[in-house]
Amino acid sequence: MKITRITVYQVDLPLEHPYWLSGGRLKFECLDATLVKLETDTGLTGWGEGTPWGHTYVPAHGPGLRAGLATMAPFVLGLDPRRVLDVERAMDLALPGHLYAKSPIDMACWDIAGQAAGVPIADLMGGGSRTPRPIASSVGAKTIEETRDVIERYRARGYVAHSVKIGGNVARDIARIRDVEAIRRDGEIVLYDVNRGWSRAQALQVMRATEDLCVTFEQPCETLDDIAALRPLHAAPVSVDESLVTLQDGARIARDGLAEVFGIKLNRVGGLTKAARLRDIALAHGIDIFVMATGGSVLADTEALHLAATVPDAACRAVWACQDMITAEIAGGRGPRNIDGHLHLPEGSGLGVHPDEATLGHPVAVYSA
Ligand code: MG
Repeated sequence: MKITRITVYQVDLPLEHPYWLSGGRLKFECLDATLVKLETDTGLTGWGEGTPWGHTYVPAHGPGLRAGLATMAPFVLGLDPRRVLDVERAMDLALPGHLYAKSPIDMACWDIAGQAAGVPIADLMGGGSRTPRPIASSVGAKTIEETRDVIERYRARGYVAHSVKIGGNVARDIARIRDVEAIRRDGEIVLYDVNRGWSRAQALQVMRATEDLCVTFEQPCETLDDIAALRPLHAAPVSVDESLVTLQDGARIARDGLAEVFGIKLNRVGGLTKAARLRDIALAHGIDIFVMATGGSVLADTEALHLAATVPDAACRAVWACQDMITAEIAGGRGPRNIDGHLHLPEGSGLGVHPDEATLGHPVAVYSA
């Protein structure tokens, strides 16, 4: 089997509400999505998506992704998409780094490989759990009252997991954490996501002031060096998200004991092939996993769900999905959707959902052998 054509689409995915991160530093209103169709000489077709969360969140952006695809396409055409490691190495040789540009190609290859084998991607990766995965909400509010309102809104849709965005104001952060913990229900999963919004001093103040609650803080500071420096000075569990990009990052976090949770975002780490290695480093070191789409349509959510299904139930905290935050629909309502706050693994072969090509407009690029 050979890849014969790569077709690239660009789609705007507007967010239902403007969304702030990192204590109000970063605002997002529309995501720049890239959809990639891989065609083969057998007639099998695979789809991938790469949707960075804006261009201010991490070093990744839509135009850069599409430029990366242009550079890598000649090296990918002609390869067998079922041999995902060959494709991965070809992309790494053609363009070192730029992992976010590689993830849609990797995703489309896994889609084709699953279809060729007649099984869902998660089963092709070794076996997917059918236990529905809780979807984590994104609570991007600022005040105590707004935070309660947003959590209540998600609870009404069945959500039992919440990523509460904090950072930027120490007193307000402490008050919001204490309030959310006071209204937290039995079985609810809550992560407090700082999105790098604290200095080391601010992080220490909040983490020490809430030590009695034993809550988990995600990405409290900008870098792994910051997180490592603070580690001996507080007792709070930590999740690393934005600073977990490469396999070397994962190895360092595990070896140096920097976190209890890996936040694995598929687009940021370069797709399923590379993410599976981070999963294994985490599991080998007793680290739980929170699997996330970086952003995007139901395709990106479904990719995250396949990886989450390969994590043992007890080690999988939740999946973060974007579908309830965007107003565009590119797959006619198909694919895994929110059912009582959970996503169910699709039983179709490959990814299990493809977009309606007619909703994507004209391709922005086509590369053929
Ligand atoms: Mg995060």
